Amino acid sequence: MAHETANEISHEREIGVRSNSRRSFLTLSAAASAAFAMRIVTEPMLAHARRVHNFPKDAIRIDANENPLGPSASAREAASAIVAQGGRYCDSLTDDLVKTLAEMEGLKLEQVRVYAGSSEPLHHTVAAFSSAQHSYVTADPGYEAGMITAAAIGAKVVKVPLTKTYAHDVKAMLAAAPDAGVFYVCNPNNPTGTTTSHSDIEYLVENKPKDSVVLVDEAYIHFSDSTSVMDLVKAGKDVVLLRTFSKIYGMAGLRCGAVFARPDLLEKIENYGGWNFMPITALVAASASLKDAQLVPERKRRNAEIRSQVFSWLDRNGYSYIPSESNCFMIDTKKPAKSTIDAMAKQNVFIGRI
Ligand code: PLP
Repeated sequence: MAHETANEISHEREIGVRSNSRRSFLTLSAAASAAFAMRIVTEPMLAHARRVHNFPKDAIRIDANENPLGPSASAREAASAIVAQGGRYCDSLTDDLVKTLAEMEGLKLEQVRVYAGSSEPLHHTVAAFSSAQHSYVTADPGYEAGMITAAAIGAKVVKVPLTKTYAHDVKAMLAAAPDAGVFYVCNPNNPTGTTTSHSDIEYLVENKPKDSVVLVDEAYIHFSDSTSVMDLVKAGKDVVLLRTFSKIYGMAGLRCGAVFARPDLLEKIENYGGWNFMPITALVAASASLKDAQLVPERKRRNAEIRSQVFSWLDRNGYSYIPSESNCFMIDTKKPAKSTIDAMAKQNVFIGRI
């Protein structure tokens, strides 16, 4: 289903290349010069394609893992205050955010890039490192976006079932694709909300084929107690790490994300795009969010509390579900899932995919 719907709704982007300076545009590189039409697909776009587009008033929308709290108060203030300056390109705000992220994570500036969300760097990483000769390896069930890009560029998509505890089965992933170009690890995983240990991801990094990368998507890490693999980026490993402001920070519509990796890996990813100027509203809202020390712990606590109430209700009512550590979970409806989705919609509650 994801494939069909994504194709219907995706838009195309042209390939280009730029130097490290945000202002100087270069000619297309050899690697990128083949006509390349990239379909950028996000969870909300998948959701958009399969559901009602005009939600009823007061609808409860929990179908795209968004954060109903929206941007924090300081993020809203910062975004509103900068609107009047929207007539100017503004590189310095990008530099400010890169600097803040680099300082927070103990990285060098050249190991950090910001994008309008994490979808773009996700797709561009898949395009840069997988190909007809180099497979894209992912979990089953897993987040679909990268599979769509891999399929679009003619790379084999290798889906490896999660373990019994719903972690990525790193040994099976390695065994399944000796020709791998990209191993995608979503931690916590979408849609299960389950985590994969740092030691398992490290094992994957240490044992993967040369020249492949491990793409770790930490879109939901702030909701869980899972350990980030930022230390592997710091150590210069073949790891590309994605973060987004769309989830715990509540900025899905404002659009801001970041990618952390070795400079040579970032350069390859940038060959597929990312030279665009960022929206200044997103930049200042993201910077303000990072300065708010209470934001992540408070929202994490609130999410865990609600998740635990939901799971208690499901336990009391005899439903089985996968014990998520994130803001989404999978449930066994014991009947065709579509009928549950439709029945919930009739109650004005819009839930996720099958
Ligand atoms: N990665 C995962 C696992 C997601 O679920 C999503 C969105 O739902 C994204 C990345 C992309 O988010 P964004 O482009 O808004 O940063």
